[in-house]
Amino acid sequence: MIISVASGKGGTGKTCVAVSLALLASSRRPGMVQLLDCDVEAPDCNLLVGAEMRPAGEVRLAVPRIDKSRCDFCGKCADFCNYHALAVLPSDVLLFTELCHGCGGCALVCPRGAIGEESRTVGALSRGVKNGLELLEGRLNIGETAAVPVIRALRPMAVRELVVLDSSPGAACPMVETVRWSDFCVLVTEPTLFGLHDLKIAVRVIRKLGIPFGVVVNRDGIGDAGVEEWCARERVSVLLRIPNSMEVARLYSKGVPPIAIPEMESRFAQLLERLEAVA
Ligand code: SF4
Ligand code: SF4
Repeated sequence: MIISVASGKGGTGKTCVAVSLALLASSRRPGMVQLLDCDVEAPDCNLLVGAEMRPAGEVRLAVPRIDKSRCDFCGKCADFCNYHALAVLPSDVLLFTELCHGCGGCALVCPRGAIGEESRTVGALSRGVKNGLELLEGRLNIGETAAVPVIRALRPMAVRELVVLDSSPGAACPMVETVRWSDFCVLVTEPTLFGLHDLKIAVRVIRKLGIPFGVVVNRDGIGDAGVEEWCARERVSVLLRIPNSMEVARLYSKGVPPIAIPEMESRFAQLLERLEAVA
């Protein structure tokens, strides 16, 4: 079973929920649970897990190599590229490698067979184990924009009975790439105007993907009732409410997940049972 944890908005406590779920599940089934940190632009699950991470490979991306002796500078490749990674001048073709997503489309549309391929490193994978939980982390190299290939490289490593995915925040390509291979998506939000705004966007994406989902409300007690009312109207299940607690915040600031508090452990245990029942 694969459970993704996502949020329309950054800073809602998504990673905290993902790590808490994975640690709790792993304490019950040591060696059977994996946590994949798919928030590859800023992976931080290990701040809460505390595993000793070791390199597990690099992520390489195929990018075009232009043979200018064959090129007639027709511009078809640049017209095709949605990412503006190519610019064709009267006597030159410029490739902005950091913008290239490696789709290979420019080579297909080139009428003169002037586009070959070479690969370059865009990110790295690492692996660590702590208390029976295996943490796999993808990390996009600084200055790179292509997060999706790094997330995709993590996918074959998800082999255990239960896999928890910590997605990038937002509702763009990295979130879609993470969530789309999960059996159930947990959307974490907070009860504020901004939380509701971004939750609505994330729900639209998840509904389009056709993945079952539910909501976790973090910092319950701040803000207003907008999220709860909207979820009730939209028939979206609120799976868990995490109270706005000084104790939770204090522990979190020291890298301790909320399940260290017995009351929170019990709430997360109920969430895990609900997920295992519906996913
Ligand atoms: S499509 Fe091919 S021939 Fe045309 S500008 Fe691009 S590389 Fe050159
Ligand atoms: S491989 Fe795709 S993204 Fe990269 S330059 Fe060619 S068309 Fe653009």
